[in-house]
Amino acid sequence: MLRYKRIYIGSRCDNNCKYCNYKVSNITWLDTQSVIESINERDSLGDSVYDGILLYGGEPILRNDILQLVKEARVAGYKRVKILTNGRLLSYQEMVEQIVNAGCLLFEVKIFGSNPDIHDKITQVSNSFIETVKGLRNLCENQRKKFVCARIQVNRDNFMDLENIVALVIDMMVDRIIISLNDYELSLRVLLPHIKNSINISILNRIWILTEGLRFCNMGGFEKHISELYSGEHFNNEEFVYAPGCNDCVLKHYCPGISSKYISIYGYDDFKAVNESNILDDLKVLNA
Ligand code: SF4
Repeated sequence: MLRYKRIYIGSRCDNNCKYCNYKVSNITWLDTQSVIESINERDSLGDSVYDGILLYGGEPILRNDILQLVKEARVAGYKRVKILTNGRLLSYQEMVEQIVNAGCLLFEVKIFGSNPDIHDKITQVSNSFIETVKGLRNLCENQRKKFVCARIQVNRDNFMDLENIVALVIDMMVDRIIISLNDYELSLRVLLPHIKNSINISILNRIWILTEGLRFCNMGGFEKHISELYSGEHFNNEEFVYAPGCNDCVLKHYCPGISSKYISIYGYDDFKAVNESNILDDLKVLNA
């Protein structure tokens, strides 16, 4: 299991996404020295538990010192440096080359729609779709080998477009797709058929696809696509609770529970205890 040390770089961004998890009233950067100190900070378990650094925000590539931060992470000994980005500045080929030359070869690019109408409505910035798609294409087409993940953030405004977004990024030949649940007011009953279609499309095209924010009991037959199995991380800040039936679930030990916001709208009906599971042995090994 690869573990990334997550380094928050501040909240400034050139998008204004409706469902942003990092939106704060005080929009600011962490100063360069603070970020470098975080990169170099020794953790109580020792930095050896981490395989790499993830820079996230805000939009990390907006920072003037982004090349310096990537280099610092490599000098600090991290073999993998990953940037979570909206990809807009990567629409400039020179920017891709500079970041890659500084030592970052892993990119996760957030995309919200298969066309400008849907994507730009969510980012609330016109032209952002064109730039993000150009950025993704630059990353995928550039000759030097990089690992490019398309992170599809799914919500009430785009879930019906999900299969189209997956087809779009498969056409670009991304290395991996993550579908991240970005909106706990979206009914799982309407979402899950689109998730399962998308996974099947991706499998047929031999592209690795994972989900984020969905629970084992939602994913019958597709549990191996739950990203938290491999990362051990849960990215949402929501308060999680368990359904009454969770006590009988054989996977409860590995499940962080359900968003209380979701429960307040839809109740517990979408969460039924898993009585037996063929991923239990895998989970024990991965979490040993
Ligand atoms: S513990 Fe509850 S929410 Fe989690 S997988 Fe089991 S039934 Fe679903």
